[in-house]
Amino acid sequence: MASRQIVVIGLGRFGTRAAMTLYQLGHDVMAIDLDDRKVQALTGVVTHAVKADATDEVTLKELGVDNFQYAIVAIGRNTEASIMVTVLLRDLEIPVIVSRAQSELHGETLKRIGASKTVFPEKDGGASLAHDLFLPGVEQYLELTSSFGISRVQVPIKYVGHSLKDSGFSNARDKYGVVILAIQRRDDVILNPDEDEKFINDDILLIAGTDDRVVRVIGTQSLENEI
Ligand code: ATP
Repeated sequence: MASRQIVVIGLGRFGTRAAMTLYQLGHDVMAIDLDDRKVQALTGVVTHAVKADATDEVTLKELGVDNFQYAIVAIGRNTEASIMVTVLLRDLEIPVIVSRAQSELHGETLKRIGASKTVFPEKDGGASLAHDLFLPGVEQYLELTSSFGISRVQVPIKYVGHSLKDSGFSNARDKYGVVILAIQRRDDVILNPDEDEKFINDDILLIAGTDDRVVRVIGTQSLENEI
């Protein structure tokens, strides 16, 4: 997977975990927090760890945050700061902004002011966010190692009406380096599906493999293309 430049703002448990996972996945990560101890804890662990107030536009520009492609606003309890920082990042024209929400209302607000995506870590967890960000077709993710997991994805529309074999999945392990564990079809689960099984609309695939290989199977669509 191509390496991306990502800024993570707010280094509570959620922000710290997201920053570390993204760095382990090979991305360039700048981590920012007001609290010196939080910053110290990530020094040498991610690309840059910086003590700064992210509600200050001048500081963000001085840090070159406006050159980043991705931002994660991981500030939680301080909703005022989370909203303020999201607005500033939108004004700096960061293409993809993922903001942490504390409630449905907070999430709606963040979307209206420019967040590309909102996450609820109390439900989702930091590591799965790191994967979700670049595997947007993936509805759920079970992390086994930092880059290998089981993904639950909607069958790409191009495969609907075709068998696994016709879709190129008969030797998925050899061809894509992934294993199709099951197809979930409404309330049924077809375990280890036969290569003649035809996909229908709304089928869900359970795929085991590394992130970059799953992307090859489900296509290269990404959050960048959605906005
Ligand atoms: P978690 O549940 O992830 O552990 P938390 O609820 O303990 O988070 P929050 O109060 O939500 O922590 O804040 C997360 C981090 O965001 C804190 O480390 C805090 O210092 C940082 N933070 C808050 N406001 C700013 C700001 N304006 N600029 C930079 N960092 C900030």
